[in-house]
Amino acid sequence: NRKLPMAVVESAGVRWEDIGGLSNVINEIQESIIWPLRYRDRFRRLGIRPPRGVLLHGPPGTGKTMIARAIAHEVSANFILVAIPDLIKGEVGESEKALASVFESAVRMPSILFLDEIEAIFGSREQAGEVGKKLISQLFLELDSIPEDANVMILAATNAPELMDSSILRSGRLDKKIHIPRPDYASRLDILRRSTRHLSISNKSTTLEWLANNSLSGAEIKALVRGACYSAIQRGSADISKEDFEASLSAMNPANILFSKK
Ligand code: ATP
Repeated sequence: NRKLPMAVVESAGVRWEDIGGLSNVINEIQESIIWPLRYRDRFRRLGIRPPRGVLLHGPPGTGKTMIARAIAHEVSANFILVAIPDLIKGEVGESEKALASVFESAVRMPSILFLDEIEAIFGSREQAGEVGKKLISQLFLELDSIPEDANVMILAATNAPELMDSSILRSGRLDKKIHIPRPDYASRLDILRRSTRHLSISNKSTTLEWLANNSLSGAEIKALVRGACYSAIQRGSADISKEDFEASLSAMNPANILFSKK
């Protein structure tokens, strides 16, 4: 009786102020996800039906998972993460049961139920045969039978919205879509500032501006900062220098070794 390693329940440690950039979508997230959880009674009194679920879509490493965790933290909800590709690896019967039990726990307490790589469930229609088909029906059944008063928000994430069946976007399921874009220069600088606010960096503002020009996504910035910390540790220094970031950058992308050292 193998247990599927697919649901992680945790109190999310990410805070709202850790999220950088994304200024264009923050309001939308507040209004469609945070308000309904925080002001459930006000919504009900005014007869406004908030979205039951929201699809976060956009390129990898742009913060979709991080946003979901920060929301859970913000509204003091449980954070439940289900990696859909793991679920598909299960047996017929077993996977649907696992999904049903995740929904059962989610509706019992204030929860953010995060379905990661949701497109995999549709990609699996042919590939995973029976499991895929049964899981799709089970998912729709679960989404359609969440009690009206349950304090739960379903967040799903995908890098490939084009692979998804539009039936999941029907009202009462994932009835809102929010695009999480790749960060532009100003957003990358903001992410860099937030992710290094506790670190001592020589010539900080110049170094961060240079890094904002040489990075692509939030995930890449996270790896870059971590690599630079390791480099400083290795040198036995408490200050991170531009050279530490250069070393980190080169380790991430061999083409960057050619960066000039000013
Ligand atoms: P994937 O589609 O690959 O699962 P994702 O969009 O869910 O990616 P995350 O897993 O949330 O991306 O991002 C990975 C890490 O990158 C985060 O834990 C965080 O450290 C950093 N990061 C990404 N986006 C941001 C952001 N906007 N602000 C601050 N940090 C970010």
